[in-house]
Amino acid sequence: MNKMSLQERDNKIMWHPFTQEKNAPLPIEIKSASGSYLYDFDGNKYLDVISSWWANLHGHSHPHIADAIYKQASSLEHVMFGGFTHEPAVSYCEMLQKILPTSLKRFFFSDNGSSAVEIAIKMALQYWSNLSGNSDKKLLLCFDGGYHGDTFGAMSVGVSSGFHGSFKNFFLKSLVAPYPATWVDDNDIEKKESEALKKLETILNEHAHKIAAVIIEPLIQGATGMRMCRPEFLNKALKMIRDKNVLIIFDEVMTGFGRTGTYFAMDQLSLKPDFICLSKGITGGALAFALTVTTEKIYEAFLGDGWESAFAHGHTYTANPIACSASIASLELLQKEDTWDKIRMINKLHDAMITQLQRCAHVKHVRVCGTILAFETNNETTSTDITHKMLKKGFNLRPLGGTIYVLPPYSITQDELEEMYEHLFNCLTSSE
Ligand SMILES: *Cc1c(COP(=O)(O)O)cnc(C)c1O
Repeated sequence: MNKMSLQERDNKIMWHPFTQEKNAPLPIEIKSASGSYLYDFDGNKYLDVISSWWANLHGHSHPHIADAIYKQASSLEHVMFGGFTHEPAVSYCEMLQKILPTSLKRFFFSDNGSSAVEIAIKMALQYWSNLSGNSDKKLLLCFDGGYHGDTFGAMSVGVSSGFHGSFKNFFLKSLVAPYPATWVDDNDIEKKESEALKKLETILNEHAHKIAAVIIEPLIQGATGMRMCRPEFLNKALKMIRDKNVLIIFDEVMTGFGRTGTYFAMDQLSLKPDFICLSKGITGGALAFALTVTTEKIYEAFLGDGWESAFAHGHTYTANPIACSASIASLELLQKEDTWDKIRMINKLHDAMITQLQRCAHVKHVRVCGTILAFETNNETTSTDITHKMLKKGFNLRPLGGTIYVLPPYSITQDELEEMYEHLFNCLTSSE
C-alpha cells in the first residue's frame, strides 16, 4: 500500500487560512527552516523574502530565541495572569517601555494582532463610557484600505479592505476617511493629500463628537497591498483628529520592530498615539503573541470601586511566560548594532533597485519604506505568474492582489537579496 504524502494527508483534513480550498494548489511541504530559508523534504530551499507573513525578524529557528523558549518552558511554562505575575512579563514590558514614547506605559497582553486591535477598540469605547456614564462616542474612524485583522471589531474598521464582505451586516459602525497612497515620482501627491485632509475635516466637523477613536496602520497599509503614505500627511491628519478629542490607535502589528527603518513607524511621526497594537514580529516570529499599550490617562479611567469600570477582557494565555521570554530574546537581537546595519543595508539595496524596476514594462508605483519595497504589476494574473516563477527558483514572494513586495527578515545577506532581485528582474523582463 502506498503511503500517503503529507500533501494528501493535509488535503483530507486541513482547512487553510485565506484560501479558496476548491482550486488552491497543494501546499508546499516544509520540513524545517533556518536563517532566511525554508527547506522542503526534497532538499529544495526557499528564501523567505516576505518573512513568513511579516512575522520573522531575525531568521528562522534562531538559536537565541529557541534557547530562551527551551529554558522558559523548563522552569515556568504558564500561569494564569489574573491574580498572578512573573518575571518574563514584567521584564519584557520594562524593556519595551525604554524604546516606546514615554507616554505609552500600560501594557495589556494577548496572543494575536486581531485581538490586540480588538482590545484597543474596546478600551477606547469603554474609556468614554467610563468617563461620562453614557457616552455618545460610539463610532470608529478608519482609513480607506486599512486592514486590522479578522475578529469583528477589527473587521469593522477594515470595511474597505475588501477582505470581509460576507460579514458586513454584522459590523460596529465606522466611518472611512480617504488615504492618499503614494510612490516614488508621484506627481499628484500634494493634491491627493490636500483633498484627503479636506474630506477628513468634513467628517470630523460633522461627527467628531460621536467618534470614540481612529485607527490607522502608520506609514504603510500592509494587507491591502503595502500602500505607503507620507509622514507629512499623517502629521496633519492626526493633529486634526486629536484636536477634535478623538482617541488615536496605531496598529503597528506589521510596522513594528524595525520594518519601517525605525523601531516603530510612529518614531517618524510628530504625534504619539493613545494606543499601540503590536504582534507579528514581537517574538521574532516564533510564537503567537501580542500587546496593546496605552497611556496612564486611559488606564486611570478604568479605576473605580466597582466591577463596572474595570476592563472585562482577558485571554487564557495572557502574558504566557514562554512567549514573553521569546519576545525578550527577540528584542535583545533587535537592539544589536549588527541588526541595524542589516536594516540599513536592506533599505539601501531596495532604494538602489527603484530606477531599474521603474523601467520594467509591467511595473508601476514603485515605493520603499525601511525594509519594505513594493510595486504594482498590471493585474493579479501577472503578479501571480511572476511569484510562481520565483517560487520555482527558490524565492517565497507571495503577492497581494496585483502587488508584489519584498519584506525580508533581517538575517538576509546582501548577496542573497541581490540574487533575489536578479531573478526578479529576469522574471519581469521575460514576461514582457
Ligand atoms: C496581520 C495584521 C493584523 C492581524 O494580526 P493577526 O495576528 O493575523 O490576527 C492586524 N493588523 C495589521 C496591520 C496586520 O498586518
